[in-house]
Amino acid sequence: MNPGQHNELTFHLMVEASPNALVLINSDGKIAYVNKYAESLFQYKKSELIGQQLGILIPDRFKKQHPGFVNMFYKYPETRQMGKGRDLFAIKKNGQEFPVEIGLNPIVTVEGILVLAAIIDITDRKKSEELLQIHTHEMEIKNKELEQFNYIASHDLQEPLNTIISWGEVLERKLERKREVEMLSNMLFIKEAALRMKNLINGLLEYSRIGRNLELKQVDCNALVKSVCDDLKAAIDKAGAKIEIRKLPVVAGYELELRLLFQNLISNAIKFSRSEETPVVIVDAELQNGKWRFKVEDNGIGIGKSNQEKIFTIFQRLHQRNEYEGTGIGLAHCQKIVELHHGKIYVESEPGKGSVFYFTINLNQGQNQ
Ligand code: ADP
Repeated sequence: MNPGQHNELTFHLMVEASPNALVLINSDGKIAYVNKYAESLFQYKKSELIGQQLGILIPDRFKKQHPGFVNMFYKYPETRQMGKGRDLFAIKKNGQEFPVEIGLNPIVTVEGILVLAAIIDITDRKKSEELLQIHTHEMEIKNKELEQFNYIASHDLQEPLNTIISWGEVLERKLERKREVEMLSNMLFIKEAALRMKNLINGLLEYSRIGRNLELKQVDCNALVKSVCDDLKAAIDKAGAKIEIRKLPVVAGYELELRLLFQNLISNAIKFSRSEETPVVIVDAELQNGKWRFKVEDNGIGIGKSNQEKIFTIFQRLHQRNEYEGTGIGLAHCQKIVELHHGKIYVESEPGKGSVFYFTINLNQGQNQ
C-alpha cells in the first residue's frame, strides 16, 4: 500500500466512524459520498444517495435558495457553520423534516474542491430549548401575578386597618376621659397590634414594589453609604456606634434599591449590637472573580449557624419584639435587591462575636453569573 492509499483508507475509516452524519458534495451539488451515520439519519441506503443532487436531503421550501448558497461556498470555501442565525431543516426518505446544524468544510482533492458537510440532528436540543422558554415564560407570568396579588392584597388590607386604628383612637380618648384604666390598656393592645400589622403590610407593599421602575445607572457607593449613614444619624448616635466606610466602588446598579440594601444592613448591624461593646460597623468592598463583593461587618450579637440561611426569608426573626424591634422583612428585601443585580447575599457569623454580611454585584448588569 502506498502512502496515498494509506491516507485514503484512514480518512475513509474516520468518516465512517464519525458520530455525525457526513455528506461529501461535489461542485455540481451532487452527493459524492455519505457515511453510515448519514444513512441511518436520512434512512436512505448509500447507493440511493450517491450521485443524487443534494436537494434530495433538503425540504422543498428551502430548495430555491440552496443552489445560490452552494455557489457562494465554492466562491469562498472555508470551514464554517452553515446558515448562522437561520433555522435549518433536513428531510428524511419518509418525508419527515427535522432541525439540523450543519458544519461545512472544503476538502481539496485531485478532482477539485469538495464540500464535506457534517450534519447534526438537533431535534432534542430544540425541544428542550422550547420547553425551557415555555417554562421561563410561565414563571415570569406567575411571578408577575404573585407580585400583583401581593400589591393589591396589601393595598386593600390597609383600608380596614386604618379604620380600626382611627376608631381605636376615638375610643382611646373617650376611655381616657372616663378614666377607664383597664379598658384603656386593652384598647392600647389593640392599637399596638393594628399598628404592627400596618408595618407588616407596608413592608409587603415595599417588597412587591422592589424591581418596578428600575433605572440602571452608575452608582457611587461611597457617596451612597455616607448619605445612608446621615439618614441613620439618630440611631447611630443613640447606640454610640462607630461606622467605618472604606473605599467603595462606583457600580452599575439601581440606586434606590442599593440605598435600601445598605440601609437595612447597616441599621441591622447597629440594632443587633451587644450592650457591653461599642458597636463598630465596617463597610468595605473588594473585587473577587470579576464581581464586587461588598461586606457589612459588625461586632454584635452574631447569628448561629442553623439560622444563617433562614433569616433571609420574609418575616423570619430570631427574637421577640420586646428584645429587638422589627418586622423580619429587611433581609428579604436585601436578598431581592441583590438578586436584581445578579448577585448573591450571605452571612458569616459567630454568636457573641459579630456578623459579616456579604453580597456580590456583577460588573456587567444584565448577565447572570
Ligand atoms: P428585622 O431586623 O426586622 O427583624 P431582618 O429581615 O432585617 O428583620 O432580619 C431578620 C433577622 O435576622 C433579625 O430578626 C435578626 O434575628 C437577624 N439579624 C439580621 N441582621 C443581624 C445582625 N447584623 N446581627 C445579628 N442578627 C441579625
